[in-house]
Amino acid sequence: MTSGHGKGEKILVSVRVRPRNDKEKTRNDICDWECVNNTTIICNNNLPERSLFPSTYTFDNVFGFDSLTKQVYEDGAKEVALCVLEGINSSIFAYGQTSSGKTYTMTGITKFAMNDIFCYIQKHNERKFTLKFSAIEIYNEAVRDLLSGDNNQLRLLDDPEVSYMYLLSDIMPYILTYCVLLHQRGTVVEKLTEETLRDRTHLDELLSICETQRKIGETSLNETSSRSHQILRLTIESSGREFSPESSSTLAASVCFVDLAGSERASQTLSAGARLKEGCHINRSLLTLGTVIRKLSKGRNGGGHIPYRDSKLTRILQNSLGGNARTAIICTMSPARSHVEQSRNTLLFATCAK
Ligand code: ADP
Ligand code: MG
Repeated sequence: MTSGHGKGEKILVSVRVRPRNDKEKTRNDICDWECVNNTTIICNNNLPERSLFPSTYTFDNVFGFDSLTKQVYEDGAKEVALCVLEGINSSIFAYGQTSSGKTYTMTGITKFAMNDIFCYIQKHNERKFTLKFSAIEIYNEAVRDLLSGDNNQLRLLDDPEVSYMYLLSDIMPYILTYCVLLHQRGTVVEKLTEETLRDRTHLDELLSICETQRKIGETSLNETSSRSHQILRLTIESSGREFSPESSSTLAASVCFVDLAGSERASQTLSAGARLKEGCHINRSLLTLGTVIRKLSKGRNGGGHIPYRDSKLTRILQNSLGGNARTAIICTMSPARSHVEQSRNTLLFATCAK
């Protein structure tokens, strides 16, 4: 079975550079970045003040502006997303400044992962699968259900329910060893809609409801979604007797697809004026996520106390980040010179996550 962060399993970190958009092309915004191979990106902007910062950055994957989302999924997310089929929790994040391509990338990755998951289930009819789907948005530390159709703010509860799971182990042939696992669900979102999926079409309907709900949210707040986080969660439970005819084994895990708020919300470089206009809101969830990920990347012992409880996002995602969960981060960036500061912040975040 795949091991978790504590046993040296790293966070999978990828960087994707989008093509220049029309605005950037029209104003002749120079391309500062070059993807020299599929793991390395360099900054070609060697103005004197830049010499303080590294010019070469290496990650698990670097995807250039001509890359396809399918490839980003295959190399940067698939392995982590499909852990859910083995009963391992996982999460995939898109991180980057507003308009760097987070939603574009995450929407694609979610669809490819769902395809693979449905394909797998069709091929494995010796097990019985139950799929559940939920979707939330976190805006200014308020949690909203994207499937319920109302705008109510949801509370977080610490789930006291402790259930016992009996796992069948076949370490020694003919000798069945039962072990009892304390299985705690951790923080749950109260009254959250959780739809049991009938089929792929049902999922597509729900995904399009989420998209619409997120847009309605944006319009009513008269701004882009740059300040909100979206979490889509697919929970898969399965049971079957294929490992042992005497007893059925049960697996349960979830995979989260997280489209984060624009990373400029975590930036320390906002001017005092800009900070006031933001209602003093540097995004708490985004800042805390950064700290949590930095600590996780140092391993369970090296990182010290992990402050999951400091934000809504990290409380909700605790079981998808800690323990033996697997994590992939796709950092998206613009290649244009006018965004070089934010792009460099994004790469520094990615470097800390490695
Ligand atoms: P974000 O979610 O980070 O704010 P978006 O995903 O909405 O950014 O992307 C901003 C715009 O750029 C959108 O119009 C999107 O279609 C386009 N875009 C982003 N990434 C790519 C890409 N890799 N290739 C082509 N177009 C892209
Ligand atoms: Mg977006």
